[in-house]
Amino acid sequence: MELFKETASMGHEQILFAQDKKTNLKAIIAVHSTVLGPALGGMRIWHYQNEADALNDVIRLSYGMTLKNAAAGLPLGGGKMVVIGDATKLKSEAFFAACARFINTFNGQYYTAEDVNTTTDDMDTMKRYTNFVVGTSDSSSDPSPYTAKGVLNGIKAAVKTKFGSDSLNGKTVAVQGLGNVGYRLCEHLHQEGAQLLVYDYDAKKIDRVTAEFGAVGVSQSEILTSECDIVAPCALGAVINTDIIDQLKCAIIAGSANNILANSEAGDRLHQKGILYAPDYIINAGGVINCGADIIGNHNEHYVWQKIDDIYNTTM
Ligand code: NAD
Repeated sequence: MELFKETASMGHEQILFAQDKKTNLKAIIAVHSTVLGPALGGMRIWHYQNEADALNDVIRLSYGMTLKNAAAGLPLGGGKMVVIGDATKLKSEAFFAACARFINTFNGQYYTAEDVNTTTDDMDTMKRYTNFVVGTSDSSSDPSPYTAKGVLNGIKAAVKTKFGSDSLNGKTVAVQGLGNVGYRLCEHLHQEGAQLLVYDYDAKKIDRVTAEFGAVGVSQSEILTSECDIVAPCALGAVINTDIIDQLKCAIIAGSANNILANSEAGDRLHQKGILYAPDYIINAGGVINCGADIIGNHNEHYVWQKIDDIYNTTM
């Protein structure tokens, strides 16, 4: 990997690596941009197959956070932290203290929050060792309900563009991933009268949305390629690649996962096929709007929900 060439082409300001032998911490923080303000982006723990994958992920995710925060109209830049390893084995008070020491080296130019495999409880633990953490239980807390509502607004804008009305009544939505965001998105979609096709690795999560929202479970191989109006990827990124595009039978792709498109060629191919893609970094900004309000000192529910409503217009 030609590291400096790649990061220069994307415009990253800083990438730092930290290791703490005692707690097995191996982490990377990438600050893509502080042009609009201090960088904000969550902390992800993932069992990357190799270090190059982790580096690639943090480079792409931090760039996406710059776009996300700017598109949401926040005075914040973009950054991200990834930790290499198994979250179930790594987590301890000493581990989060080491994470916090690493974050402190940025002296307020990088703020962290929860992301894949980190929780509000984890943010509470880190808060004992750093001021540069948001999404703690005494502040903005769990971002997922805000993200889910923003994704719903983005889906409605895409539906309006494609079908002329933003009603979801009778539309079929295939939701991949029924975690914190996916579950709540299903709840909103059900309330709006949509039919749901769902899949998650965890069968219990499928059973729950089937029982609560009348969803129909489909197989892993069918969730993205079923006949439906909207595919909503809410698990991990890069699921829409050039191999799968010929098999898609939807009109719209709009979900919460970051970096849904594997590469820009996938975007071009979707466009050629007439499938509308609602950019992830616009429609999944609800969580960061809520957490970001803590940093900019403007935490009131009215401001946050207004900005989440704005996601509809920004998507349009
Ligand atoms: P989560 O960990 O709570 O849920 C993810 C779910 O996806 C889990 O239930 C997991 O079993 C399932 N899953 C993983 N791989 C899968 C696959 N290939 N097929 C089907 N299911 C699979 O995460 P979350 O907080 O709900 O976030 C979901 C996505 O949205 C992530 O990509 C995250 O980065 C993104 N996102 C989340 C927020 C937020 O506020 N939580 C904000 C912005 C973006």
